[in-house]
Amino acid sequence: MLDKPLLINGEWRAPAGNRSAGVHNPATGEVIAQLALCEHADLDAALEAAQQGFETWRRTTALERAKILHKAAALVRERAETMAQLMSREQGKPIAEARGEANAAAEHIEWHAEEGRRAYGRIIPARVPGARQVVLREPVGPVAAFTPWNFPINQLVRKVSAALASGCSIIAKPPEEAPSACIALARAFQDAGLPPGVLGIVFGPAAEVSEHLIASPVVRKISFTGSVPVGKKLGAMAAAGVKRATMELGGHAPYIVAKDADVEAAVKLGLMLKYRNAGQVCAAPTRFYIEEDVYDAFRSGFVAGARAIKVGDGLSDGVQMGPLTHARRLDAMARFVDDAVSHGARLECGGKRIGNSGYFFEPTVLGDVPEDAAIMNDEPFGPLAALVPVSDIDEAIRRSNRLPFGLAAFGFTRSLATADRFSTELEAGMVSINHFGLAAAETPFGGLKESGYGSEGGSETLDAYLTTKFVSHIGL
Ligand code: NAD
Repeated sequence: MLDKPLLINGEWRAPAGNRSAGVHNPATGEVIAQLALCEHADLDAALEAAQQGFETWRRTTALERAKILHKAAALVRERAETMAQLMSREQGKPIAEARGEANAAAEHIEWHAEEGRRAYGRIIPARVPGARQVVLREPVGPVAAFTPWNFPINQLVRKVSAALASGCSIIAKPPEEAPSACIALARAFQDAGLPPGVLGIVFGPAAEVSEHLIASPVVRKISFTGSVPVGKKLGAMAAAGVKRATMELGGHAPYIVAKDADVEAAVKLGLMLKYRNAGQVCAAPTRFYIEEDVYDAFRSGFVAGARAIKVGDGLSDGVQMGPLTHARRLDAMARFVDDAVSHGARLECGGKRIGNSGYFFEPTVLGDVPEDAAIMNDEPFGPLAALVPVSDIDEAIRRSNRLPFGLAAFGFTRSLATADRFSTELEAGMVSINHFGLAAAETPFGGLKESGYGSEGGSETLDAYLTTKFVSHIGL
């Protein structure tokens, strides 16, 4: 029983009421814990603590804040194995991926610790003799953050580190589906010496919690990672209070393979990106646009690779793809496959649930998929790849850009001119050519169009958490 999962004012507390939600192991379907859920009274207590925490933390020097963050990073590294096991059990991903995620969390904290020391202002030469004109960057205030279940630690750590490095306090609602690793992450910050109220953790019914927190005058900024429809709703609520928002929403990444590409390398990377985390990745490619000359070579390599993927419990040795996190996504996958086939696509491999315990779905490849099939328009967020032959790069780029999404895009080519077209013409917040180069702490992560706004990571990472204040001063 996770009966004290709320971090409020530096203490792990039980909620005021007695609501709870079952936490499942998606590899078996069994309920492995009950997570206690908060009430409005708990949220009010968290808001009050965040306001007080902000007053303390904004006055803490950047150097002191960085020291605490570095200590938290060291604790996360020490505890990475435990955090990875917890995450694998509740979210389903293979343990090797979970270890990578936990260690990457330490890197994100370290990056933000140092960026916080470089949150510089500016001096503007004055028009008047003796005047000093200064631009100050100040923390925006208490933040409310909502993070999803696909990368339980990674999604949370990006928001928490950016807020803390900027001098903001933060109340986060991590995913109820995979709470334990998130609680472990918050403990690392707390054990590193974070003052009470600077970091709050709450779990509860998503809409209820977000409405309550966003409407509160205490909260000055929100940050959300999740689906486009929910992002639009939360963005509108933030706008009603003229509050800042960062939105990391869904994607539908194109993966273009030019006829001059290294096809073998394109197949290998495509398989890794598509089936990592069972395809539950906002930057995962789904629409594979392959130039006709290399379509058959790509298709046969990709299908053979998808068939060879070892699917199973993420905690078992050698497993390359775990279950989906939610039972309800099994039906969604089956619907995408049936719809594509009914529109004339060929089912190259996979296409159905594996067994009847746990939420396993076969690594699936659909060939010659027409553009009006649902999978070409709606994000599948699962292990489904749609292969489409195209006659040239113009067609590939035109089709890539036709959706309202614009998160990630991938291209493979040996031509510098084509690579240049990918980098300038693809409408995506992140473009990766001939390799996977996204999501490191030092690089900005974020989307265009309906995929959202704002960057997490890179030197842009603190922008959304800092305000600009201009001070003009003359000595008397
Ligand atoms: P969903 O739209 O029900 O929920 C998406 C996320 O938003 C979940 O973490 C959920 O807890 C949260 N959420 C839902 N309603 C909310 C509210 N009113 N206030 C605050 N948070 C709220 O979808 P789902 O079935 O959980 O996930 C599938 C879809 O979500 C995918 O199609 C994908 O687009 C999106 N998703 C995106 C990411 C990402 O990394 N950008 C991560 C997870 C899910």
